[in-house]
Amino acid sequence: MGLMNSTPAKILPAKILIVDDQPANLTLLGNVLNAAGYRVFPVSSGIQALKLLERHVPDLMLLDIRMPGMDGFELLGQIQNLPQCAGIPILFISADDALDSKVRAFELGAVDYLNKPFQAREVLARVGTHLRLHSLQKQLEQQILALEQANQTIHELSIRDELTQLHNRRYFNSQALELLKSLEQENAKVAVVMADIDRFKSINDTFSHPIGDVVLQQVAQILASYSQKADHSRENNLLARFGGEEFALLLPHTSLEGAVQLCENIRQGVEQFSWDEIRPELRVTISLGVASNPPYTLSSLLSWADECLYQAKNRGRNRVYAQRVL
Ligand SMILES: [Mg+2]
Repeated sequence: MGLMNSTPAKILPAKILIVDDQPANLTLLGNVLNAAGYRVFPVSSGIQALKLLERHVPDLMLLDIRMPGMDGFELLGQIQNLPQCAGIPILFISADDALDSKVRAFELGAVDYLNKPFQAREVLARVGTHLRLHSLQKQLEQQILALEQANQTIHELSIRDELTQLHNRRYFNSQALELLKSLEQENAKVAVVMADIDRFKSINDTFSHPIGDVVLQQVAQILASYSQKADHSRENNLLARFGGEEFALLLPHTSLEGAVQLCENIRQGVEQFSWDEIRPELRVTISLGVASNPPYTLSSLLSWADECLYQAKNRGRNRVYAQRVL
């Protein structure tokens, strides 16, 4: 549904349920509404009305009050229990013009109160107004729903990397700051990993960029599966594509040694992955740098992990290098 240029409501005639125990009233009121183009469902008791509402949901209801058996007030209460009738405008039309009855009708949830004998033009004016208000309200609800869905989509797009479907750097940074704050409060261990695909530029140059994209996606998947596998109780592991071929991983409640072990598993997972289905001659490795606390500042953990990554590259790539933050 378009938000700004929503199409006009469907041109089907509005359906109106009228309930009155007097056949003459039903006929008179029904004729007035019919002549104005409405589709009228006339019934002569509350029981019949409830039966009809099981199969048909009208756009508006006009209820008599004084009826044998179930009166209009009771019928209103029953209708309000029907989920399919939620929000449908209900008007009373009654010979009873006592103030108490009118006030009670509104208190129970009716939107209007018409006196009998009625003036046709007045009935049509009020019915038209309530139908318009109701349709505007429905439109508004749909637009709010569409906006909420659009917001949700925008939010998802804003925190994900499109190619790998991992979280992006912005999300990582904002979440990491909060995580570190709470980890510091419980004086918990934390490790931060920077990982980088080795010689990625040459993969792109040798095998073309689409293959490079596949490599990024596959490595991202390996990282994701290992960082989840590490410990199922740790749902807070934070993984993101940090830059071009660079990934960041924050591991709460993890020692330097635990993080090194995990990184070693990831390194092997990438090294041993078979690219036969993509390009049999393709070889992919990654280097990983690991830093662990103290302190709990994101910037120092990240720059230490980055420094360790640099060391891993310097020492020949396809390896894990780790160091505690001093
Ligand atoms: Mg009556």
